[in-house]
Amino acid sequence: MKMNRRLFLRALGAGALGIAGGCDFSLEEGIFNPCLPDPTPKRLLDHDVVAKSWQGIDPAKFWDCHVHVAGVGDANTGVWITPQMNSLLHPWQNLQRRFYLNASCTEREGSVDEDFVRRLLQCLDAFPRGAKAMLLAFDFHYDELGARREDLSSFFVPNRYASGLAQRFPDRLEWICSIHPYRTDAIDELDWSASQHARAVKWLPSAMGMDPASPKCDRFYQALVRLNLPLLTHGGEEKAVHGGSMSEFNNPLRLRRPMDQGVRVIVAHCASLGENIDIDGGPNGPRVEAFDLFQRLMEEKRYEGRLFGEISAVTQANRTESTLATLIRRVEWHPRLINGSDYPLPAVVPLVSLRRFVKQQFLTDAQAQVLSEIRQYNALLFDFVLKRSLVSGGQHFTPVVFESRRLFEPTSSARLHHS
Ligand SMILES: [Zn+2]
Repeated sequence: MKMNRRLFLRALGAGALGIAGGCDFSLEEGIFNPCLPDPTPKRLLDHDVVAKSWQGIDPAKFWDCHVHVAGVGDANTGVWITPQMNSLLHPWQNLQRRFYLNASCTEREGSVDEDFVRRLLQCLDAFPRGAKAMLLAFDFHYDELGARREDLSSFFVPNRYASGLAQRFPDRLEWICSIHPYRTDAIDELDWSASQHARAVKWLPSAMGMDPASPKCDRFYQALVRLNLPLLTHGGEEKAVHGGSMSEFNNPLRLRRPMDQGVRVIVAHCASLGENIDIDGGPNGPRVEAFDLFQRLMEEKRYEGRLFGEISAVTQANRTESTLATLIRRVEWHPRLINGSDYPLPAVVPLVSLRRFVKQQFLTDAQAQVLSEIRQYNALLFDFVLKRSLVSGGQHFTPVVFESRRLFEPTSSARLHHS
């Protein structure tokens, strides 16, 4: 397929998995994940840059809270993708699909779902014992009447698939369910998921079609509080295929409603991209940076112990330098930030520009060199070592950010805050 550079980049930027769009991509560091065979060479694993990254972090508390389990449904997994993804009439979606397949090294026709999981587990082999990935289920789009709308969905990963994988690989995997609150069986499904040790619920409101500020969600919120499960939900811009008209559903201020009812909310990507309306002053407020709205909520005392931010994708080239610098420098926020990788996106090479980080002095040349090698073998390790290596104003993301497990277990101090 021939297309010019701009269209190509735009196609890359609009993703069913939630790749956020932008213009600041880098092709200089390559386009495709070379998917070098396992294992990651020992000289890289033993490298100083990697060893230093683990300093102060208890691997048993390292739970990467944002890991997609993608596929095409070729192994009876129940995974579903919109037919448009395979269609030559929809070249953008088709191209995105190719990128996801390449990022996750699953290019063998007929065994995509299986290969996706195998590659992920291989990546995890390079992590110390105890470190885990939290797999995300992903629900369909539902309309206001509670009807499932495949025509408005781009992607579906069943709770049963994600939970089954977590059960099969308990040393390495946890799982997060995804349930649309407008479903008539929403509470039953949530109870079932909790009984299968789901650690949280994942929403992508602009793509799935729920409005977090709607009273229609209240029953679901009460159930979350009863089960003490946090809500991991996207904030800010998300260029999902059908999400356009519902982008305001990702407005961080709409999360006041669940938080006011006692739900612990984790804002994916810390709402680090795009603009939303400042609805605190009414529905006709000005458009402001979504990240500013997230910061506003973080400053409100009553949301301590309720509001958390998740740092996946904040290293993508479409985020501003100052957003990343703020997250690194505000060390007092770190106990409320947790790590997620958004795997397999760190393996989409043009999304993360190491050269830019060197230019902006977040990384040294030598660090970038090692990271660039790691990326060719292991996108998950690359994402972690990159985030630990970034420096701004003499600060790093501190170890607590990478000990995400604390938010997902009953004994965590975060839970004590919220009764
Ligand atoms: Zn994601």
